[in-house]
Amino acid sequence: GEHKPVQVRHIIAEVGRIIKETFPKSINFKMSVAKDLWPVLADATQINQVLMNLCVNARDAMPEGGKLEIRAENVVFDEHYSLMHQTAQPGDYIKISVIDSGQGIPEKLINKIFDPFFSTKEVGKGTGLGLSTVHTIIQQHNGFINVYSEPGNGTTFNVYLPANKSAE
Ligand code: ADP
Ligand code: MG
Repeated sequence: GEHKPVQVRHIIAEVGRIIKETFPKSINFKMSVAKDLWPVLADATQINQVLMNLCVNARDAMPEGGKLEIRAENVVFDEHYSLMHQTAQPGDYIKISVIDSGQGIPEKLINKIFDPFFSTKEVGKGTGLGLSTVHTIIQQHNGFINVYSEPGNGTTFNVYLPANKSAE
């Protein structure tokens, strides 16, 4: 896809509209986006898909309902931090978090979830391609993703995309 300066707050607002219209009412949905969020160079359609894939997984992890939040903020990684956390490059990023209060991911599966066709869902309910697509798209944007999960308490996916401050 074509990469253009994008304000991710608009993408999050669009994803929020879809969630409010289509997700079960038992899911308490919330968004919080920093007012001064830096622009990114991105294909807006693909970033929309990343967020939808993460939110659909969150929904599926909460069949009895729960909390879903999308957060976005600016972050700066210095040289030291990048080395410590093995992130790509030091610099300015936006961090988009998708946080759910669902069933969580067992520790022994966490290294498999980004593999194509890996799914714990019933046949016909999941292709196992959602997170591998997410991973590919984020790599194409020179970004990265990490996941923290506590079985029984929920899961957080953090997506980092390089800021394009010259577009401000
Ligand atoms: P699919 O949703 O089709 O199963 P994905 O690639 O989107 O495939 O996800 C792979 C697997 O990762 C899921 O089957 C599920 O086991 C796990 N997973 C992903 N997101 C979450 C989440 N938010 N909570 C719990 N498990 C998750
Ligand atoms: Mg999925």
